Amino acid sequence: MTELLYQTDSYLTEFDANVTSVLQEERAVTLDRTAFYPGGGGQPCDLGFLTITGVNYPVEKVKKQGEHVLHYLGGNEIFQAISSASRGTLDWARRYKLMRTHTALHGLCGTVFRDYGALVTGGDMEPLKGRMDFEFETMRGELVREIEAAVNNEVAKAREIRVIILPREQAFQIPDLIRTKINLLPEGIMQVRTVEIVGLDLQADGGTHVHNTNEVGAIRVVDYKSKGAINKRIYIEIE
Ligand SMILES: [Zn+2]
Repeated sequence: MTELLYQTDSYLTEFDANVTSVLQEERAVTLDRTAFYPGGGGQPCDLGFLTITGVNYPVEKVKKQGEHVLHYLGGNEIFQAISSASRGTLDWARRYKLMRTHTALHGLCGTVFRDYGALVTGGDMEPLKGRMDFEFETMRGELVREIEAAVNNEVAKAREIRVIILPREQAFQIPDLIRTKINLLPEGIMQVRTVEIVGLDLQADGGTHVHNTNEVGAIRVVDYKSKGAINKRIYIEIE
């Protein structure tokens, strides 16, 4: 089982870990602990470097597999299961942009739910741009500037972001979490990680976020699309 360091410290940029297994053909290793985000919830996986006995391997892809996190290594070095000690270094510039983007998208969710009662059905992001899908029948072009102003107003309030891990039963008591479809969580998951933009949004979420909305920057709503009568997709960019 890989300890997921990013779940409790999203600002960790470097870490020491032991290699626990090596998949020679895939050029992938598992570690006992990692700060690399393996992707999920619309947030892409982290990139960076893994140093094993003095050799720097680029981390080209990270993926969760059961309870383990696979780190796929590039480079031309002959790859072998040498020592067990390693040091991971994240591409922090990229990851921090993803944190700002992810928090911006939650800010958008919270604002759109509060102002229009629209529920989120999905989302996706890359550094400094993202989209969210809503059940938002009344969405129309004139609302774009209104939503943009409202979400920027919330972000400017310097709201704190709180991340906690709760027992499943306790999480199910929180009405706000139920509205974000917590009941879709697989039965085997006994703990729920929640991300709260205090006073605005609360979701069950595995991603990495900034500590305060004042780190997000200016949000632009750049486009929206109808995906049918009810489903609307809103695109944002961060400056
Ligand atoms: Zn999220």
